[in-house]
Amino acid sequence: MRTGIEVEEARRRVLDGAQPLPAEVVATADALGRVLAEPIASTRTLPPADCSAMDGYALRADDLTGATRAAPRRLRVGFEVPAGRSAPRPLGPGEAARIFTGAALPVGADSVVMQEDVEATDGEVACFAAPAPGEHVRPAGEDVRAGEVVLAAGTRLGAAQLGVLASLGRTVARVHRRPRVAILSGGDELVEPDEDASGGRIVASNAYSLAAQCAEAGALALNLGIARDTREELERGITAGLAADVLVSSAGVSVGDHDHVRPVLEKLGCRLDFFGVLMKPGYPLTFGRFDDGRGPLVFGLPGNPVSAMVTFELFVRPLLLRLAGHRVLTRPVVRATLGETLRKKPGRLHFVRVALARDGERFVARSTGNQSSGVLRSMTLAQGLLVFPAAATELAAGASAEVHVLDPDVLAAPEPR
Ligand code: AMP
Ligand code: MG
Repeated sequence: MRTGIEVEEARRRVLDGAQPLPAEVVATADALGRVLAEPIASTRTLPPADCSAMDGYALRADDLTGATRAAPRRLRVGFEVPAGRSAPRPLGPGEAARIFTGAALPVGADSVVMQEDVEATDGEVACFAAPAPGEHVRPAGEDVRAGEVVLAAGTRLGAAQLGVLASLGRTVARVHRRPRVAILSGGDELVEPDEDASGGRIVASNAYSLAAQCAEAGALALNLGIARDTREELERGITAGLAADVLVSSAGVSVGDHDHVRPVLEKLGCRLDFFGVLMKPGYPLTFGRFDDGRGPLVFGLPGNPVSAMVTFELFVRPLLLRLAGHRVLTRPVVRATLGETLRKKPGRLHFVRVALARDGERFVARSTGNQSSGVLRSMTLAQGLLVFPAAATELAAGASAEVHVLDPDVLAAPEPR
């Protein structure tokens, strides 16, 4: 087991060999945010036939050659094509057909004039301009041609993709399975939120924030509850999570007398890959795996609420995204100007909780307050994590630094007042 490694190395080790989970079939209506495990080739041509883009009259462009406002051409209106119907017969010479948006052009017609550009009088239309052939016509296959791959495997399904699947008649889709994450809280002091939290007891809030982080990453969280600081209880808890894809245990990973997580994991056959990442908050992060993939990927997160959330954000989230089939595993990163001077001791990289304000084209970052790893309040205000490099001791006001954006709303242009 490696100890005290850099953030980048820890990330590499976590993602090493991780592959998207096998596929499952889900209803298209439930597939928002999932990642396609198959390419979608169309069995349909869309639109299936040349059809009208306007309410108006379908005709032959040739029949209107030379038409002007001063010298309109008159065409007989032979029949009507309502949306969703096909024409009763081909269009004859010198003839127009009343047509509505989306209706298939009659055989023989090659263009459409808008109803605004004609004068209709009993059974006839007077046309004031000659359309170009193809005008106001949506040609067959303009959107999709039969046989064409419309969505590649690996595509993230958003609103437009679900609409395309529906129009291809695909009511189900094969997508990568969502990772299942078992969450275990460990500590003698921990209670549930509705229990008495006086006298040194602490609410096991990590189960709530970590489950929410799982959900935000598209994973399914299973709360295993609280295990006391005994080997027996931890072993029972961890064993309950062995069927998950990922096991996240919070607390008990340091080197204190009551920190039994690591020895219990090893006893159960988990090979610890690393302990300790040179960062703050979150140094005591532990990661391990079972040989031959016969168990979950295991994270022992530090117990402090901010350390747990930040290490989840940096290491667990990218893994969950990879397992679900996503290709982009990182947050947007912006360069922000420091709105105030930040200081720290040299040695470890710090992720500083910051609020981001837009100032024209720039972002200005300010600390959200007390950066102690127990102060979850400053996490509630954090829109980003600012990277304060390991060797640096000061980032002066006005200097710039990278910020991992947690809240994409900060990228949006401000509303005009
Ligand atoms: P530990 O990692 O066990 O030394 O815990 C560090 C700090 O995090 C202690 O103050 C714990 O009470 C707190 N803590 C541990 N587990 C949780 C949890 N599940 N939710 C909230 N705080 C916790
Ligand atoms: Mg503890």
